[in-house]
Amino acid sequence: MQLQDLYRDLILDHNRHPRNFGRLGAPARQALGHNPLCGDQLTVFVRLEGEKLADVRFEGSGCAISTASASLMTEAVKGKDRATVGALYDQVHALLTEDGAQPDASLGKLAALSGVREFPARVKCATLCWHTLNAALGEGSATVSTE
Ligand code: ZN
Repeated sequence: MQLQDLYRDLILDHNRHPRNFGRLGAPARQALGHNPLCGDQLTVFVRLEGEKLADVRFEGSGCAISTASASLMTEAVKGKDRATVGALYDQVHALLTEDGAQPDASLGKLAALSGVREFPARVKCATLCWHTLNAALGEGSATVSTE
């Protein structure tokens, strides 16, 4: 099986069966993200324990890329501290926007998003959940738009 096929199957699977989907009760922080270009809308919930993201969930509706990206993100960041999450975001952003960027082994399944780079119009679909997570963590407004 080709790597690209594996990545595509991973995206399809996370779109069909999103992980950590649903609301998170208080005392969770939350933020709403919107990508008007595609119509993707999602809310990210996060419960912090000190610097650690003890729990992360999301809900909303959007295209396959936005849903799969949010699902993969929640799996990747849950249990990590803020600094690690910030570093992961930087890597994902580079993977999505820099020609020829190779996924680092530490990205794990997030590497599946590398295929999105071939479709520049969909990059905002993939980054929406990360911007929304940053907003929920208090690094920006509680409502974000990719515009
Ligand atoms: Zn989208």
